[in-house]
Amino acid sequence: MTFEETGLKPEILKAIAEMGFENPTPIQEVTIQHLINSTQDLVALAQTGTGKTAAFGLPVINNISMQIKEVQSLILCPTRELCLQITRDLDKFSAYIPGFKTIPVYGGADITKQIRELKSGGQIVVGTPGRVHDLIRRKLLNISAIRWMILDEADEMLTMGFKEELDAILATTPAEKQTLLFSATMPLGISEIKSKYLNNALEMSVGKRNAGAENVEHHYYMVHAKDKYATLKRIADNYPDCYAIVFCRTRMETRDVAEQFMADGYNADALHGDLSQAQRDQVMARFRSKQLQMLIATDVAARGLDVTELSHVINYSMPDDPEVYIHRSGRTGRAGKSGISVTIINMKETGRLKQIEKLSRKKFERKMVPGGEEIVEKQLFHLIERVKNVDISSGQVEKYIPQILEQFEGMSHSDIVKHFVSLEFNELLDYYKNARDLNIRVEAGRDSMGRNDRGDRGSERMSFTKLFINAGKKQNLNASGLIGLINEYSNRRNIEIGKIDIQRKFSFFEVDSAFEKDLVNALNNQVIEGHVINIGKVQSIEGQPASSREGGSFRREGSGGGYGGGRPREGRSREGGFNDRSDRPRRRRN
Ligand code: AMP
Repeated sequence: MTFEETGLKPEILKAIAEMGFENPTPIQEVTIQHLINSTQDLVALAQTGTGKTAAFGLPVINNISMQIKEVQSLILCPTRELCLQITRDLDKFSAYIPGFKTIPVYGGADITKQIRELKSGGQIVVGTPGRVHDLIRRKLLNISAIRWMILDEADEMLTMGFKEELDAILATTPAEKQTLLFSATMPLGISEIKSKYLNNALEMSVGKRNAGAENVEHHYYMVHAKDKYATLKRIADNYPDCYAIVFCRTRMETRDVAEQFMADGYNADALHGDLSQAQRDQVMARFRSKQLQMLIATDVAARGLDVTELSHVINYSMPDDPEVYIHRSGRTGRAGKSGISVTIINMKETGRLKQIEKLSRKKFERKMVPGGEEIVEKQLFHLIERVKNVDISSGQVEKYIPQILEQFEGMSHSDIVKHFVSLEFNELLDYYKNARDLNIRVEAGRDSMGRNDRGDRGSERMSFTKLFINAGKKQNLNASGLIGLINEYSNRRNIEIGKIDIQRKFSFFEVDSAFEKDLVNALNNQVIEGHVINIGKVQSIEGQPASSREGGSFRREGSGGGYGGGRPREGRSREGGFNDRSDRPRRRRN
């Protein structure tokens, strides 16, 4: 079907042709015809990225009468960002209808300006439930004449606690109207709204429920939890052109990862709820215009950010809810493009990954975290490609060429190239020299998810020893400080470190058993900031090696002594902690 066949007005056809829309998406095929020909309510199970804004926007704009002065359609959506996004889209769709106006109203912004806009009149109001309800109560927004009521991302509005406002708004709408409800999922609350406020609604689902985008590949990397950040950096280095959202679990994790990532020279920024609205707007604008290559975000903050060309979605932390995974990964592979959804997991998370595999009916492919050589090669040829494609037409360097060539006299062509490449690459080569293998190796005979024939989990090859140290939170010791201390005193940068447990005056941690003795000898009795360090092996009371147990009670083996400790110096190897690689040249997006 073509847009011409749907019966939309020529003004709208012209606008969407200019936007590059050639054919309606499956959801648009149904909704456009349905709204033009029928007044029956509609419930559509649809994810973002399916073209649902145009699915409701185009037929509503088409059916609106420019003779009527009152607001004719109310669109409710969960966030300010989505509200502005919908308004932007509707403005484009209605660009050739003289006098057509869509008014966005949302919380956290000056209400007087919104009241002024409402007073000057418009055909459509798009708003968040809280602000819309407020304006209705204050009799500043009159919805008594609306003919189309649209609930966009209805499930999300419930999740965000807008149930009361939704009920209050829906209860005041006129009986004679057509209601359209769009939701990515159908939780109980949505069924309730459907039965309470919708009449004999036509139900439709776009694509398979929970299917996720077809052209998205699902990759995962299995590493120790402590290596997640190093893995993220390797992924970013291995895809020099990636344009990605990195999803974290909490605001704090988002902030920590982003701060470190930026300090490490990546072209990234954070988007989370602790930022002011102005800061969030600024970050989103920079990401949309591709001044930023990677956006580190929470799920909530990233909602409403509509970017169609993401090459990757990176799950730095796997979500608890498989549906959230499907939603995240659906942000790539849009508008006919292919995309990659990457998940970084540790061994404990393989079960959850299986769950997502089952629900989405997508096969996850294990990828190995690239090693130093592979990354350096990728970066090198990326640079060569950039050199080949750089625009030299302005002729600005032309005048210096004779002098430059004079400087290079006597050097061969390949030597000159070597010099330039080395200038750019020596540091990276040095950084990745002897880079550790970050992958968790699974025993032979087990599948990539670490299960053997009986389905139980595989074990990691490394053997860890649990150590005790007489420093903890009181001495300002944190995990990265402890790692820094281990690196500094062992004089090695590649000791595997397992679980770290920082208590008030002491801490436990696991290290690769092969380095246990060296580390204890190097650190024991060292005086750090006036405190004498005591460190020793921990053995469980039952005499089991501590590393083979989860928790339990422990006694120390080795040296005794008081709690001295002291603030350890920072400075983990460049890959291990959150304080590394600040000296790396800043990456630029080209
Ligand atoms: P949505 O699901 O509304 O967030 O839309 C996802 C993206 O697809 C937006 O960037 C739209 O501009 C774009 N889009 C929507 N409908 C079409 C269409 N028929 N053809 C091409 N792109 C579209």
